Amino acid sequence: MTLTTRLKLTLSQVVKPVYGGIGHILMFHRVTPVPPVRVKGQSRLEVTPQRLEEIIHFFQTRNYDFISLDELHTRLINPSGSGGKNRKFVAFTFDDGYVDNLLYAYPLFKRHNVPFAIYVAASFPQREAVLWWYLLDDLILANDLLTFDFFDGPLILETRSDEQKIQAARILRARLKFTSKQQYPTLLDAIFTKHGIDLLAKTEQLTLSWEQIQQLSSDPLVTIGSHSLHHFPLKILSEEDAREEIMASKSLLEQKVGKPVEHFAYPYGEHREAGLREFELARQSGYKTAVTTRFANLFPGHAGHLEALPRFDAPALSDQDWVLAINGLLPLRHNRFKRIVTE
Ligand SMILES: [Zn+2]
Repeated sequence: MTLTTRLKLTLSQVVKPVYGGIGHILMFHRVTPVPPVRVKGQSRLEVTPQRLEEIIHFFQTRNYDFISLDELHTRLINPSGSGGKNRKFVAFTFDDGYVDNLLYAYPLFKRHNVPFAIYVAASFPQREAVLWWYLLDDLILANDLLTFDFFDGPLILETRSDEQKIQAARILRARLKFTSKQQYPTLLDAIFTKHGIDLLAKTEQLTLSWEQIQQLSSDPLVTIGSHSLHHFPLKILSEEDAREEIMASKSLLEQKVGKPVEHFAYPYGEHREAGLREFELARQSGYKTAVTTRFANLFPGHAGHLEALPRFDAPALSDQDWVLAINGLLPLRHNRFKRIVTE
């Protein structure tokens, strides 16, 4: 261990009583033994089953309570209530609704008797939403030159070297993510259909079907939450459309799983995609909790901000980062000493 590492660990012990909080929510996406080949330089969405198990062990050895989102809600609103008052807790969550959550994550959680939640973007099992982030990687990796005929003019991208592929992915991702809802279908057509790519191929291959979601939901260890309908960044939508994404996904999921869906995850979940308006909409829509990707630990004060709970992006944390994160040193720096990020 280097001196810097040792210093950081010591410092994290010092800030832990103030910044370590009472618990943590972890965000995952996919669990797969063989992660797909992707364009370099972007945030990782995949962990191996082995890595997931290491993370479970990490919290087991630290004597954590593994809790569901309902239990997390209860502990936040009623801190003096039953059970585990002085024990720290951790909640595992998965975004989007990938089929590997059933194939690889579920058996692991079952073996360890650990509850977890899957936030489903309801248009994936409807086979209506496009999993463009994986389609885009395949398109860029398979080509050395790409030309697009966009409504605002043509775009030609060289995609030969790694650097060019990274740059092309950056440009096209920004377009796909932040285009208006009205122009979105035209954009999908120009980027994918025109290049012979079936828009729903990845949705069918990689995401859970309704039947599989029902199977998972029937196990008390699993919480099915909502991740909107179409996985748009809600902040760029009209208020009416954002409300529809938040509310209609809830009722569709409830209808399919036959039980209340009371937890929500904002698509993407950073400042550019979810803010005060979205927090208010989630609250009005009757969710008990809603999670962002704000990088922080949980504190008793989050009882007043149940629609803006923070999460750690688990695959992004190295072995050393885990301790620095849960002790609060990394979040402290990230949030400039604020413990609760409400904006
Ligand atoms: Zn997502």
